[in-house]
Amino acid sequence: MRLILLGPPGAGKGTQAKRIEQKYNAVQLSTGDMLRAAVAAQTPVGQQAQPIMESGGLVPDEIVVAIIAERLESPDAQNGFILDGFPRTVGQAEALGRMLDEKGLSLDAVIEFTVDEDELVKRMENRVAETIAAGGQARSDDNPESFRKRLVAYREQTAPLSDYYGVKGQLKSVDGMQDIDEVTASVVTALEG
Ligand code: ADP
Repeated sequence: MRLILLGPPGAGKGTQAKRIEQKYNAVQLSTGDMLRAAVAAQTPVGQQAQPIMESGGLVPDEIVVAIIAERLESPDAQNGFILDGFPRTVGQAEALGRMLDEKGLSLDAVIEFTVDEDELVKRMENRVAETIAAGGQARSDDNPESFRKRLVAYREQTAPLSDYYGVKGQLKSVDGMQDIDEVTASVVTALEG
């Protein structure tokens, strides 16, 4: 299974990716997680990405495309993958298309989570409260100002991917406002339906 999960911050892409990984024998590839690991390790890429991520902007295409290109070569990605947070721009989608063409591979589907923006802000606030209550530290970009900027970046740079994949006939929409289990069931139906 080769899948893209599309949707604004807080739409539940990561949650759903983890739930369907095993079912489809595919590995979750989250550019957000990869970039956060680079920031934690303070690699040159991490140092460049850190201020951009904290403010809620998008890291340059060259950086994330290079990260994904490397990751797609690794053994665990050979059976299939669930892209979570990539592509986020038309440029990234085109680069992904070229990478897959070179390997003679195609996507099975692009699943788009439709959600209500006001609800996303509440989800982010809950995620922060729960993390802090559990003794953890909230993500540095989970604050109202950065979150708003992430939503704007999504609307302006990522939302056009709906049409990009829609015209290719690869897009399937799922109502992301349902319960977590119901969203998973809808994803499975969309894939097998
Ligand atoms: P979100 O919950 O906002 O979807 P992610 O964990 O996917 O969060 O990403 C966190 C941040 O990492 C983004 O706001 C952005 O700065 C950076 N990032 C992740 N993936 C990409 C990408 N494909 N292109 C550019 N920047 C990215």
